[in-house]
Amino acid sequence: MAWYRANARDLPWRRTTDPYQIWVSEIMLQQTRVAAVLGYYARFLETFPTVEALAAAPEERLMKLWEGLGYYSRARNLQKAARIVAEQGGRFPDTYQDLLALPGVGDYTASAIASAAFGRREAAVDGNVLRVVMRLTDCRDDIADPKVKKAVRAQIQAVMPEAEADIRVFNQATMELGATVCAPNGPPRCLECPAMAFCKGRLRGTAEDLPVKGAKKPAGWRRRRCSCWCGTERSPCGSGRGPGCWRACGSFPTWREPWTRLPPERRCPSGAWSPGGGRAD
Ligand code: SF4
Repeated sequence: MAWYRANARDLPWRRTTDPYQIWVSEIMLQQTRVAAVLGYYARFLETFPTVEALAAAPEERLMKLWEGLGYYSRARNLQKAARIVAEQGGRFPDTYQDLLALPGVGDYTASAIASAAFGRREAAVDGNVLRVVMRLTDCRDDIADPKVKKAVRAQIQAVMPEAEADIRVFNQATMELGATVCAPNGPPRCLECPAMAFCKGRLRGTAEDLPVKGAKKPAGWRRRRCSCWCGTERSPCGSGRGPGCWRACGSFPTWREPWTRLPPERRCPSGAWSPGGGRAD
């Protein structure tokens, strides 16, 4: 947290605890870089300074303002959620669970708003945080697996500070570390990192290979079985063109049943083709 206080980027949504402004920033930042969001964020709040103004805005005006930012469903969900909040007298939900019920608000966004706006002790785990944790702990678990993300969230939750002001800094600090020092593109800048002395990924030289995401399943074998008739007059594809016609047809006919269940006449007598043959696509 000391590192964050000394090094954090000065971003407009970090200067406020207004839930509306923090919510708008979090939605805009989904899948979008900070630099791209800054101008949109300022114009958006200038045009719709309150949740009521956003709720009452004509959709065309909203979409015009969002033009170029992409992922337009975010804007539509923002307005849907704004109308819900406006109907509740403009009072923003202030707990993780209640925030999660708003359209367009997922696990990470609910935690980020709950902690930044209301000082709730909720760990906000985005891709940056996952990367930092996996490198710090030299963990090769697949971060695309929701169970892994859930486990990381629980681990962070367990070590979060209790004081409201520290909670805000803690979440922002872990995200900032992942966004600026332990970054996704290029090697991590370990010499500038406050965790370099105890980071297992750095000490073991594995940091650059982490995190593991969407690990490819090892190449397997096709489940389908195909038939061949070697040295006979039968056409494997059923076209009646004779042996070898599969070359013209481009494929063998295939079955899904296990090899062992295939009748003997469907098995290749030459032994040139083995059960389950053919690499997976
Ligand atoms: S020491 Fe390097 S790898 Fe470890 S958290 Fe810091 S920047 Fe990332």
